[in-house]
Amino acid sequence: MGTHIVWFRRDLRIHDNKALHYALEHLGEHDKLLLLYHIHPDLNDSFTKRHDYYYEALYDHVQNLEQQGVFMHFITGPVEGAFQSLLSTVDDCTAIHVNIDDTPFARDRDQTVQQVAKKQNIRYYAYTDNHLHGAHEIVKKDQSHYQMFTPYYKQWINRAKERPYQIDLDQLRVVAQKRMDDFAEGQKQFGTLMQQKTGRWKQMAGSERALEQLQAFITNGLLNRYKSDRDRPDFDGTSRLSAYLRTGAISPRTVYAAVQEHIDESGNDEGANTFIQELAWRDFYNMIYYHYPMSKDEEIISKYQQLQWSYDEEHFHHWKHGTTGFPIVDAAMRQLNETGWMHNRLRMIVASFLTKDLQLDWRLGERYFQDHLIDYDPASNIGGWQWAASTGTDAVPYFRIFNPTRQSERFDPDGTFLTSYLPELNKVPLSCIHEPSKMSESEQDDAKCIIGRDYPEPIVSHQVMRQKTLERYKEIQS
Ligand SMILES: Cc1cc2nc3c(=O)[nH]c(=O)nc-3n(C[C@H](O)[C@H](O)[C@H](O)COP(=O)(O)OP(=O)(O)OC[C@H]3O[C@@H](n4cnc5c(N)ncnc54)[C@H](O)[C@@H]3O)c2cc1C
Repeated sequence: MGTHIVWFRRDLRIHDNKALHYALEHLGEHDKLLLLYHIHPDLNDSFTKRHDYYYEALYDHVQNLEQQGVFMHFITGPVEGAFQSLLSTVDDCTAIHVNIDDTPFARDRDQTVQQVAKKQNIRYYAYTDNHLHGAHEIVKKDQSHYQMFTPYYKQWINRAKERPYQIDLDQLRVVAQKRMDDFAEGQKQFGTLMQQKTGRWKQMAGSERALEQLQAFITNGLLNRYKSDRDRPDFDGTSRLSAYLRTGAISPRTVYAAVQEHIDESGNDEGANTFIQELAWRDFYNMIYYHYPMSKDEEIISKYQQLQWSYDEEHFHHWKHGTTGFPIVDAAMRQLNETGWMHNRLRMIVASFLTKDLQLDWRLGERYFQDHLIDYDPASNIGGWQWAASTGTDAVPYFRIFNPTRQSERFDPDGTFLTSYLPELNKVPLSCIHEPSKMSESEQDDAKCIIGRDYPEPIVSHQVMRQKTLERYKEIQS
């Protein structure tokens, strides 16, 4: 007879939770379960949109558990001491179950906990749950990891996918312990965290909303149209599941299974196949980050570590605040600043603009996204930034530099997205909306949009910067 602990981290849900499922399955006849959350001091020392969103997701999870009559127990403080103290409180603990988090931070933390557990002969079970295929699953014949997405994907798509895991709620209610008095300090800290949240994301966080969002994406026909609509920021054409996946309010297994079911039922796989490929990118970048744990700070392709980056504060300020004079960049940055999310095509455009048109250090952009995205995921974000900077393993070639104006014409042809975030362009004629500085003086008067007063002049010339950037990268090739 003993206690099994399920430690939640980025898997804030009951349904289809692999650690919870297996913990329940492992329990002996008289064993008990204790649900745990560790409030890590380093993860909570600042408060950004991402924290605000995550706390909402955590709150939702705790509430869902309580609705089942089941309780979360909180511990706080530096990892080693917090778990030592936990194991002296739960002195009959026989096993700890977690879902794997592959980030370098989490790996360090988990190693510490494993060592604490080992010293006390406590078993430690870690399950692949946040990704369809973990960092070590898809490897080349010689067991080395892939660098390029296409061959990785060929293997990824042909590998069997796990089905969602069932949770026996009746069993959970019977075996889950309630020891709130022993965890009063942690409970107090949880209360303090929850007081910080603004409530802004209440309707957009948590497992019920995640499932609804998934269903809506499929039944509204967006999935079928995903292949053609996914690049259009003027349509609501993507799933908007990223923040749910990030917090674990939904598992990628549940998403994959629902998409497969749709293919089986409708026989329509066009949009679905493209969508599934995006889930593979998520796994790919997780794998890459696992193998390149320094890639938050260093260019993955080592020759690019010599690149000299700009740190021009004025340029960076204009980029952050959406005042570059390039409407697609400015509207995108305002979308990020206002909503905590940015469309994928726009993430590529603003990242390209920062690194190639402004030649600013990609790390500045990566950090800015970290502070402003509610779906911030280090692996995908670093992957995206190193892709745009042409410094990653499977990145955009340095000579294929996005032209922000052409991107805008192509992906927001009517300027609908632009004007939704840049109302100052409302009256600008369509022929100039992607490049308002082209307007003649009388057009500016008619549009009530004087360049330099109502909307900025472009802060750089794309043609000039493109040429300079090509030369900068070319130097390194030789
Ligand atoms: C510079 C840059 C930074 C990025 N930073 C992040 C980040 O911090 N967090 C994040 O989740 N995604 C990031 N992405 C990937 C992508 O932009 C978002 O996942 C996507 O926009 C989320 O919206 P969605 O859920 O509607 O996506 P959908 O198009 O509906 O895609 C479904 C899911 O697939 C995954 N996915 C889609 N595209 C990618 C991709 N290119 N790489 C990895 N996974 C992908 C996401 O989990 C997404 O929720 C970044 C991309 C770039 C270019």
